[in-house]
Amino acid sequence: MRIGVGLPTTTPGADRELLLEWARRADAGFSTVAVLDRVVYDGYEPFVALAAAAAATRSVRLASMVAAGPLRPGALLTKQVASLAALAPGRLTIGLGLGARTDDYEAVGVDLRGRGDRLTDQLAFLRGGWRESRIGPTVETPQLLVGGMSGGAFVRMARYADGYAHGGGPARAFGSAAALARAAWRDLGRPGEPALWGQGYFALGGGDAGAAYLRDYYAFTGPFAEKVVAASLTSPRAIRDFVRSYADEGCDELVLFPTSARTPAGGARLKIAIVGGGPAGLYLSILLKQADRRHEIVVLERNPPDATFGFGVVFSDETLGKLRDADYESWLAITDSFARWNAIDIKFGESAFRSRGHAFAAISRQTLLTILQRRAAELSVDLSFEHEAADVDSLADADLVVGADGVNSTVRRLRERDFAPTVAPYPSKFVWFGTDLVFDAFTFVFRETERYPFDAGTSTFIVECNQATWEHAGLEGASEEDTLAFCADLFAEELGDHRLLSNRSVWLTFNEVRTRNWSSGNLVLVGDAAHTAHFTIGSGTKLALEDSIGLAEALVRRDDLTRALAEYELERKPLVERFQEAARESATYFENVVRYRELPPIQFAFNLLTRSGRIGYTNLTLRDPALVQRVDAHFGGRRLAPPPMFAPLQLGQMTLPNRVAAAPAVEDAAGDGSPGAGVGAALEEAAAAGTALVLTPFVAVASDARISRGTPGLYDDRQLDEWRRIVAAVQGVADARIALRLGHAGRRAATLPRSEGSDIPLPEGWPLLSASALPYTTRSVVPKAMDRRDMDVVRDRFAQAARRAVAAGFDALELDCAHGYLLASFLSPLTNTREDEYGGSLERRLRFPLEVLDAVREVWPAERVLSVRLTVADWAPRGLTQLDAIESARAFAARGVDLLVPVAGQTVAGGAPRYRRGYLVPFSDAIRSAVGVPTLTGGYVTTNDEVNTIIAAGRGDLCVLDPSPAAAA
Ligand SMILES: Cc1cc2nc3c(=O)[nH]c(=O)nc-3n(C[C@H](O)[C@H](O)[C@H](O)COP(=O)(O)OP(=O)(O)OC[C@H]3O[C@@H](n4cnc5c(N)ncnc54)[C@H](O)[C@@H]3O)c2cc1C
Repeated sequence: MRIGVGLPTTTPGADRELLLEWARRADAGFSTVAVLDRVVYDGYEPFVALAAAAAATRSVRLASMVAAGPLRPGALLTKQVASLAALAPGRLTIGLGLGARTDDYEAVGVDLRGRGDRLTDQLAFLRGGWRESRIGPTVETPQLLVGGMSGGAFVRMARYADGYAHGGGPARAFGSAAALARAAWRDLGRPGEPALWGQGYFALGGGDAGAAYLRDYYAFTGPFAEKVVAASLTSPRAIRDFVRSYADEGCDELVLFPTSARTPAGGARLKIAIVGGGPAGLYLSILLKQADRRHEIVVLERNPPDATFGFGVVFSDETLGKLRDADYESWLAITDSFARWNAIDIKFGESAFRSRGHAFAAISRQTLLTILQRRAAELSVDLSFEHEAADVDSLADADLVVGADGVNSTVRRLRERDFAPTVAPYPSKFVWFGTDLVFDAFTFVFRETERYPFDAGTSTFIVECNQATWEHAGLEGASEEDTLAFCADLFAEELGDHRLLSNRSVWLTFNEVRTRNWSSGNLVLVGDAAHTAHFTIGSGTKLALEDSIGLAEALVRRDDLTRALAEYELERKPLVERFQEAARESATYFENVVRYRELPPIQFAFNLLTRSGRIGYTNLTLRDPALVQRVDAHFGGRRLAPPPMFAPLQLGQMTLPNRVAAAPAVEDAAGDGSPGAGVGAALEEAAAAGTALVLTPFVAVASDARISRGTPGLYDDRQLDEWRRIVAAVQGVADARIALRLGHAGRRAATLPRSEGSDIPLPEGWPLLSASALPYTTRSVVPKAMDRRDMDVVRDRFAQAARRAVAAGFDALELDCAHGYLLASFLSPLTNTREDEYGGSLERRLRFPLEVLDAVREVWPAERVLSVRLTVADWAPRGLTQLDAIESARAFAARGVDLLVPVAGQTVAGGAPRYRRGYLVPFSDAIRSAVGVPTLTGGYVTTNDEVNTIIAAGRGDLCVLDPSPAAAA
């Protein structure tokens, strides 16, 4: 990793001498000097400052990180970039972003709306249009980076830039953003890896050095400013740790920006009012008192101390370790009261599984609260029961007010604007009961009522079902008694002679709470008041207690209250969000569990256990090797078998030796449609790695169907000969098979090679075709809406190419109906606005792609595999619905397709992709279970563990394994 340093262009008091001296010194050792961009602020214009630095230095790289492109007219921006690139040849990096400041936009008189499109346009021009313009000096485009966190920002980056500029924060946040950047890069078929730049703030001097400047600079962000202050590095050790953690996350270049002001430290002892005497509030009071007995702490709880609303609380070993370290006394009392077990029972249809090795410990909520109340009282916390806090004004004399008042937090509501919460109800219904039956395992029971399943779990008896089941079963408006009777009857077999006990048990909807800011002034939220995670991963109390640990530690570490609160949030929020993500996966699983009723029982069990993504194949192997061996045996067809990724797969009449596919991103080749040596070598290398199926890059059915001039084709006999050689070479490697991805680029044709960006039109391209006359980007050529004759020609081209594919010896043919290319342009309502029989309803939009499939089917031998790559989500408003996706998948499947490849996005250039690890897997899961055809999936899957988990859980049949960034380096 290279280290750069920021020029102090926005730091108060930096004059000409300091700037130039700074740049000169950076030239002696740092990799880069970088500038920030801000119009309405006492600081230097970034490009002017870089020009000065260019004159004062010889070798250091100069970078904007990032400049707000849309503040400048596009041509002027290009002019400035061109000038700088000429003044500092070969050492310029231009980072561009949207800029978040309204006052900057107002000052330059540019409308804030539409700035995303303007930035896209500027990038497209810098990448492509510039060459054709007369805006000079004429130089090579410098290295381009794009910043931002939205899905749109990642696509913009992957389409036009060379890399990604992260906005700062903990290394974990950088790591997550870097993964999204890589996913977007691969999704757009860019070869290699994006350059990944990170940044941080520093001021040597300890304590609050630099804080005043940062507070001022980021004042426009409200409470976020404190997070920036909290994250800034004020000691050599902090800088060293920060640098190390960024290097670990795969950062290529880390730029440290200086801050220089200093502020004195604040006081210590506090008067603290905690609203809510649940686990979070009580535990926080204990930890704070324990840290400093001089704190004056009151806990206000509206209920009496023994108000029961009873369900069990489950903890993992990891949480218990944290509780032990935080307060040994309460840990002892809690662990003394535990019921422990290590099994999960899964009852599904006629099958029953017991999975072991999971180590649960549970305690009743009331016992936990009693222990915490006792310990708090011991430490002289003032516990005020039956005391409802209706406002925060009455707590005005407190230095710190903590909202520990649960999911419907009053504190959060009173400062709603500052905390900015979102409360999203989950669609399912649930009800919890008690039962006098003691379960000896965490038990899931799945029951069908009429058609739909139920599930239940824990010693507390929770029943959950989706909305349709609930309505179907006539439970809407059911009284407490009716609900109890219905559930007791449904689970009579499990309950035996035991009773189901109601405690105001009515059907509820679970609300997922997220809050943008966890503190506002001297108010801070902990536990359910700040966030909730669906109860099916049973982590609410754990997260609440760990929040309290995090907040208490931050208050001990920092004298400055505001800084401590920001630090607490910075540390906890990313961790909590990970749990919320897992909880969402888990909730989605239960919501859709009906999908999995056809799965073989062992696969059903594996799917359930790995539903949230927190446990995968490898982890389960450690917990429960016997169950995993049964999974392996199920796939391998014998008692001792290798992991599922090595299980053979039957596709039509072809047997693949394992479940791993490779789709190497290949540099565009020669320019005449021939695949060239690069493509052949990449495919052979993928085969040599042991993959069962190697997918070619996009291969065009005609010369005008190419994405760029270098896109390989299969439309003449010379190309056929080359492919024949490549196919034979790949097939010569062990058992490898090769699939041809055949397509027509439609309105995304005639662009520059992907190594230079994506969808940047060639200066002199060729006429384009599409379903409708809508250009792909604002700079793309307007395509011709195809008439019947065009359709005949294109259909015949596909058939001809398929004939050549037969002759070349391909094992499989994948028809490309994805990513906004020609056939996909017919499928989406966003790109097909035709009024004839090929537009309108889904059935009509499907007509032409199906015609093409039929033509290909006719020439493609039945014994070879035919597959369709299909966009099933546009990731853009008013695009394909899930129902559309399933219907079109069914239509293709009905024509005897052996394999479906569900993908998402790229239908339109904008849109909001949702990249994450394995982002295509949920689509595969949905299509596979709805349509019953094997699927190929992936979407930034880089480990064997992920492949094994996907295959074993039945979320896909074959998986594209992307090279991990470390392997690519
Ligand atoms: C069905 C279900 C099952 C669950 N199972 C588990 C599980 O197995 N494991 C697990 O860890 N978590 C589980 N949870 C989640 C868990 O209950 C919560 O996440 C946890 O209790 C949060 O703790 P808390 O202290 O933040 O909030 P709470 O426990 O909600 O405590 C908030 C307290 O504040 C009080 N209060 C509210 N407003 C005021 C006011 N204005 N003035 C004074 N007092 C006020 C309330 O009376 C309450 O005592 C489950 C939740 C549900 C719904």
